[in-house]
Order: sequence, then structure tokens, then C-alpha cells
Amino acid sequence: MKKADKFSRRRFLQASGAVLAGNAMGATSAAAAAIEPKDTETQTAPALQKLLRKAAVPLAKGARVVVVGGGWSGLTMAKNLRRFNPAFDVILLDQQSAFVSFPVSNAWLADQVSLDFLSHSFFDAANNNDYHFMQATVLGFDRNSRQVYTDRGYVDYDYLVLAPGIEYDYSRIGVEDAEAQTRLFHRYPGGFVTSSELLTIKNKIHQFTGGTFLLNVPDGDYRCTAAPYERACMIAAVFKRRRVRAKILLLDMNSEIKIKKTGFTRAFEQLYGDYIEYLPSSLISNVDIDGHRVETEFDEYSFDDAIIYPPVRASRLIEEAGIADEYSPQKAANTDPFRYHLIGDERIYVTGDSRSQPFSKGGHTAHSEAQYVAEVIAAHALDRDVHWRSPQTMCFSAVDIEPLRAMSIITYYKFDQRTELFAFDRTHLIEEWDTQGGQASLAWAEGMYRDMFYL
Ligand SMILES: Cc1cc2nc3c(=O)[nH]c(=O)nc-3n(C[C@H](O)[C@H](O)[C@H](O)COP(=O)(O)OP(=O)(O)OC[C@H]3O[C@@H](n4cnc5c(N)ncnc54)[C@H](O)[C@@H]3O)c2cc1C
Repeated sequence: MKKADKFSRRRFLQASGAVLAGNAMGATSAAAAAIEPKDTETQTAPALQKLLRKAAVPLAKGARVVVVGGGWSGLTMAKNLRRFNPAFDVILLDQQSAFVSFPVSNAWLADQVSLDFLSHSFFDAANNNDYHFMQATVLGFDRNSRQVYTDRGYVDYDYLVLAPGIEYDYSRIGVEDAEAQTRLFHRYPGGFVTSSELLTIKNKIHQFTGGTFLLNVPDGDYRCTAAPYERACMIAAVFKRRRVRAKILLLDMNSEIKIKKTGFTRAFEQLYGDYIEYLPSSLISNVDIDGHRVETEFDEYSFDDAIIYPPVRASRLIEEAGIADEYSPQKAANTDPFRYHLIGDERIYVTGDSRSQPFSKGGHTAHSEAQYVAEVIAAHALDRDVHWRSPQTMCFSAVDIEPLRAMSIITYYKFDQRTELFAFDRTHLIEEWDTQGGQASLAWAEGMYRDMFYL
């Protein structure tokens, strides 16, 4: 390695600090090496300099809040921060070019809404709600210099909100090798993290010509408790409509249906008795990608096609930044459970499905929570305090199509001082599925999109 090369590397490390994601650095060096072999300053330096320069964002007109992740949490956060403190200058960062909603995506798989209904522009959200948006991938951040590093340069922050959502943890279904994990992700995507997965899944179910279609429900605190059961119903409805001779094997890694059990059991039996075979306590221990087989503790299942949803974990950004709680099974950040800030750093907050609290991983939960946390951050800047309020979870589950029929749940949470754990509070559960529920689910989603993007 030449002297200039070493110099670039040292400067890069100094500027990025120890917390810059290890993987991202590896990728950068590897990319630079791949472009051209050995060692000229001009060949290595530009790739690194791209990360070192300041990103082209407007100058901050007040205390700058950088929000990482334009999902349900980040969008709501970006909008509400200025509502509670108009002096804030807010910038939202997301690696995607557009937003595609996961809620209601199961109904979309069964052609009950269009892709337009689910898709919205980050530009609209930012223009209509008076904040900035930059499409960029966040690589890490430095808490000393208060800088966020992205593939488009760094951004200074006064407050940093991390709302990057979840990632799959394939190691928990026995797939350890990184290359195998990527192949599994592409061949049998779970459909719970990116919109490309959803497009692939829709193609799969509309082109399926018959045989065994395998789905699973992960264990642990996974994203949207009801969604895998709902998805089984929507896929069965498509097969039924297309008159495909298919068996849906629903392998549940839990001992029973985790939510809306009565409603889903009735749907499986009354609507899809010929299609869905539900198998509880099916702990997946390995997947043979090319052999089309899944192994559980006691059995093996062959399939013709599959959607494999592994257990989830908090975004790797958190672990790689060294702020994960060492006792958290999902590598969630070590945050204050009521104020959401990193323990020992009230400039950094973690919200949405990456949070450490055990609230349901839902869009509605993330939305109501972000309104509260925006107020907490505003209050911190104004040297005030706000009382804790529980997030609200609201979740509709469609079970039938033409017409769309759904059931629902609404709940809050309370903190039990004795056990020091959060528990459900004021839960309202409707397990009768009907067309009113179906219409309400679409009206709910429309209202949420309007709030995050247009009002
Ligand atoms: C099929 C399905 C059905 C669902 N149904 C419902 C429902 O009926 N009701 C409900 O309330 N919830 C539902 N959910 C759950 C809901 O989608 C999630 O809980 C919600 O999206 C969580 O919001 P979030 O902002 O925490 O994460 P996300 O919405 O995942 O947003 C995270 C964002 O961060 C970005 N990001 C990640 N890493 C980086 C990085 N390094 N740099 C830049 N950007 C980054 C991602 O691109 C993404 O846009 C459903 C989910 C699925 C999959």
C-alpha cells in the first residue's frame, strides 16, 4: 500500500470515528480495490472522499434533527418535530427512492387495492410538511463530532433519530453462511422488509401452477404479529379464485396462532379447509434452497415454492454503531424505555420497529409513538418535560376477498411497576370478520398515508 493510500485511510478513520459501521468500511475498501488493483491515490481516494465530504443539503436554519429511515416511524417523526418545535430544521434520510406500504400489502397481493394505493413520494411528504428529504444510505455516525455518514457524504446533527426498521436473522433458522442467506432472501423472500420482495411474492402466487406452497410464521418479537396468518388467507383466496390445486403449508414456529386465534382458525377451517394446512410448533432448523426442503426439529417438508420469513432483529446499523444492548436478543439499542434516548446520550433516539421496548411491531404503533417522541425531543431542546404516553396499536387483518372481509384489534400498553414489564392495556379485539372491517382497513390506511404525506 502506498503512503498516500494509507493517509487516505487514516483520515477516513479519524473523520468517521470508531462507530462507523465496520461492514460499510469493508465494502468501501473492497469496492475501491475491485475498481483497480493495486494502489494509486487517484483510484482509491475518490471512493473514500465521497464519504468524507459534506452532503449537499441546505444549511441548517435551526437545531438540526436528522431522521434515519423514512418508514412509518421516520415519516411521522419528521412531520411532527417541527410541529412541537418550529425552530427545528429537519432532514429525513432513506435509502429507497419511494415509500411502499407494507400494511394492506396482503390485500394488494390478492388484487384488492392497486400499487398506487400503497406507493407514495418522499418528496411530497417533505414538501407538504416543511422538512428536507435526501435519498441516501446511512453507513454510521460519530457521536463526538455529531455527524451522520452516508453514501452521499456526511450530515451534521444536533439530534439524531434512528428509525431504520428491522432486518432478517437467518441464523435463527440455521442458515449461517452469508452467501446462502442472500440466495435464500432472493429465491424465497419473506416479504417483510423491502418492496422488491413484495413484487416477487405477487408474481409467485399469480404464476403458481399447483403443488405445495410453503409459508411460515417466525418466533420471537417479529414484525406485525397477524400478518403471516393474514397472508396465508390472501394467498389461499388467490389460489381458490384461480382454481389452482395447491396446498399451503403454514409452518408456525410458535405453539399456536399468536393473535386473533379464533378468527383465523375459523377462516382456515370455513374458507380454506381445502387449501391451508396449519402446523404449529414447527421450529425451522434448516432450509435446503436448491432441494426445495425445510427441516424442522422433527420433520422435513418439501415444497414447490415458498415464502420464508425468518425471525427478525433490529437494524444492523445499531449493533455496528456499538449502541446495542448486550442483553437484547434482537440486538436492539440500549435506550430509556420511556424517553427513547440512548442511555447516556440524549441527542440520539431510537424509534419504530428498531426500538427496544416490546410494543407490537406495527405501522400504527410506530406512528403514534413517533408523535410522542417528537414531543420529547422538542421538550428536551426547550428544557421542558412531557409525561409518558403509551403508543397505540391498531391492526386490521383481511381473511377473505371479493368482498374484502377483515377483523381488527386496538390496544395500548401499561408499565407494571411490580414486574417492571410492559403489558397490554385497554385491548379491544374484534374476531368476527366482515365487510365493514374490510372497508375500515382501507379507510384506516388512507388516513395514515394522508397524514404522513399530504396534510
Ligand atoms: C405484510 C405486512 C403487513 C402489515 N400490516 C400492518 C397493519 O395492518 N397495521 C400495522 O400497524 N402495521 C402493519 N405492518 C407492520 C408495519 O409495516 C411496520 O411495523 C412498520 O413499517 C414499521 O415502521 P418503521 O418506520 O419502524 O420501519 P420501516 O417502515 O421498515 O421503515 C424503515 C425505513 O428505514 C430505511 N432504512 C433502513 N436502513 C437504512 C439506512 N442504513 N440508510 C437509510 N435508510 C435506511 C428503509 O429503507 C425504510 O424505508 C405490516 C407489515 C407487513 C410486512
